[in-house]
Amino acid sequence: MTRSPPEKLLIGAHTSAAGGPHNALFQGREIGATTIQLFTNNQKQWKGKELSDEAISLWEKAREETGIQKIMSHDSYLINLGSPKEELLEKSHDAFSREIERCHKLKIDFMNFHPGAATTSTTEECLDQIVKSLKQFEKLCAKGPTRLLLETTAGQGSTVGHEFAHLAYIIEETRKLIPIGVCIDTCHIFAAGYDIRTKEAFDKTLKEFDEVIGLKHLYAFHLNDSMKPFDSRKDRHSPLGEGEIGIEAFKYLMTHPQLREFPKYLETPNGPASWVDEIALLRKFAK
Ligand SMILES: [Zn+2]
Ligand SMILES: [Zn+2]
Repeated sequence: MTRSPPEKLLIGAHTSAAGGPHNALFQGREIGATTIQLFTNNQKQWKGKELSDEAISLWEKAREETGIQKIMSHDSYLINLGSPKEELLEKSHDAFSREIERCHKLKIDFMNFHPGAATTSTTEECLDQIVKSLKQFEKLCAKGPTRLLLETTAGQGSTVGHEFAHLAYIIEETRKLIPIGVCIDTCHIFAAGYDIRTKEAFDKTLKEFDEVIGLKHLYAFHLNDSMKPFDSRKDRHSPLGEGEIGIEAFKYLMTHPQLREFPKYLETPNGPASWVDEIALLRKFAK
C-alpha cells in the first residue's frame, strides 16, 4: 500500500467560488490545500447561472496551475431526493441533474449530496424515494467522470443517512446503475451516535461501517469537530480540537495507514485564516 509524503496527502477545505469556480482553486492553493470542495452554483437558489465557456476555460487553466486534485462539489441545500411532495421532488430532480451536468463540464471527481429528508413520510418511504430518484440519473451519470457520494448526516430533524444501514440500503439498490459511494463527515457521524473520540472507539466505528456498508464504498471525509455532544443529532461544526470530538480523532485519521490516504475536506468555521493552520496541523500529524 502506498504511503504518500505528508505534503502530497489530499487535504483541503470548502473554498469560495465567488467570482467563478476557478477562484475556489486559487483560494485552495493559498491555504496549502491539495484538494478542495466547492459549490458550483449558488447553494441556496433553485435556478443558478449556467457555466459559461469562459468560466470552464478559466477553471481548466486554474486546475493545471494549482495542481489541485480529487475535487468535490457539494450539492444545493434545497435538494431533497426523498421528498414526499411531488413539486419539491421535481425541482430536486431538475437541480440535481443540472449539478451533475456542471460537475461533468468541470470534470469534477465527486459530487457530495445529503441523502434526503422524510418530512411527512416514514424513513423507509424516504429511503425508497431516494433510490427511485437516483435511478433516474443512470444515463446522465454515464456521460461523465463524476461519482455521487452520499454524505453521512447528523440525523437532525427528519433527515435520513445518520444510520449506516440507511446508506447501505441506498448503495445496494443503486450501485449497479450509477457510480455511488460515501463521504464520512466526522462531526455528523459523532452527532449521530458513532463514537470516534479514541483510537478504540474509532476502530469500532470503522468496523461497523465495514460490516454494514463496506469500506470499499468509502471515498472521502469531511473533517469537522462537533460543537454539540455525542449522539445529540445536531449538526454544528467546530474547529478541529475545539469541539466535543477532540484532536485525537484527527490525529488518528492522519496516522492510520489506509485512512490517511483518503481525500479530506475541512468545513470548519472561521474560514481560510484557520484552514491554513488546520491543514498544516493535519500534515504534521501525518509525518
Ligand atoms: Zn454537507
Ligand atoms: Zn455539517
